[in-house]
Amino acid sequence: MREVVIIGSGCAGLTAAIYAGRANLNPLVFRGHEAGGQLTLTTLVENYPGFPKGVQGPELIELMQKQAEEFGAEFQEGDVTRADLSKRPFMLEVGEEKIETQALIIAAGASAKLLGLDSERKLLGHGVSTCATCDGYFYRGKNVVVVGGGDTAAEDALFLTRYAKQVNVVHRRDELRASKIMQQRMLDSDIIHPVWNTVVTDVLDPAKGEVTGVRLKNVKTGEEATEECDGLFIAIGHSPNTELFKGQLEMNEVGYLITHDGSHTNVPGVFAAGDCRDHIYRQAVTAAGTGCMAAMDAEKFLAENTHSK
Ligand code: NAP
Repeated sequence: MREVVIIGSGCAGLTAAIYAGRANLNPLVFRGHEAGGQLTLTTLVENYPGFPKGVQGPELIELMQKQAEEFGAEFQEGDVTRADLSKRPFMLEVGEEKIETQALIIAAGASAKLLGLDSERKLLGHGVSTCATCDGYFYRGKNVVVVGGGDTAAEDALFLTRYAKQVNVVHRRDELRASKIMQQRMLDSDIIHPVWNTVVTDVLDPAKGEVTGVRLKNVKTGEEATEECDGLFIAIGHSPNTELFKGQLEMNEVGYLITHDGSHTNVPGVFAAGDCRDHIYRQAVTAAGTGCMAAMDAEKFLAENTHSK
């Protein structure tokens, strides 16, 4: 029997672990299938407070985990495969193992959708990025390609105009999904060039360990071409990792957990932090902030509900 289990080991889960550890709750953290979360997919993080020269994403995560361990957090590899939140203690299954917990913090994150290309995976963090806010700065005076036609793609493309010389937005249709105002802003920019009815079929050049271009295919004509570029931003949406809780926790139409009064979900004793509840800010520092909130809410909940332990 655990007092607190934390699902997820990104910024939100690790911050929750630091706070829950310091509150002597001996949290158990399930690291999940993308252990360390999205920061492990990026390189230099320049906007996390406290690091004037920036910090490597994986290093920041490692430091946070060490800090949580200092306060007694325990870490376990693997994914929670089933969760029964119908009564307390909550029951979690991790493969064959069953774990009971009085409080649960869900910090399972959201995974950026990828195109599914081998080359894209290989160059992730080396020219392929899923976060323009995080990595745009590195493309001063360079050519970049953004894939997608929704608000994220429009927002990323507009953000990248601050740095890049040219931003080609590759979209698989000839109509954007983005809101009208974002479309207008994007189309008004001299730096942004839409490439309609086109998909990226390959990213060059994994052998060099950097992005030198993309292979494009027009889905209407079948015509193929190579576009030289220095960076590729994939902006085709995110999926919150909340499948496990469908039917048990309130979520919006695309699966983001709904919280109230801080980090409370609709089930007392279950708290949500980080990107699995936030489709707007999605920053390391906001994830850490909500992780802190979730641990404090869990601590208060346990203190007020000790009779049912
Ligand atoms: P989205 O609205 O689902 O758009 C995803 C885009 O990627 C679509 O244009 C889609 O093409 C394209 N796409 C999806 N899978 C693809 C694939 N495999 N290959 C190529 N293209 C693919 O996602 P989002 O832009 O991340 O936005 C998510 C939600 O957050 C939306 O509700 C959005 O309004 C909101 N949001 C709001 C703001 C803001 O208000 N500032 C900023 C960001 C996000 P199709 O159009 O052909 O389907």
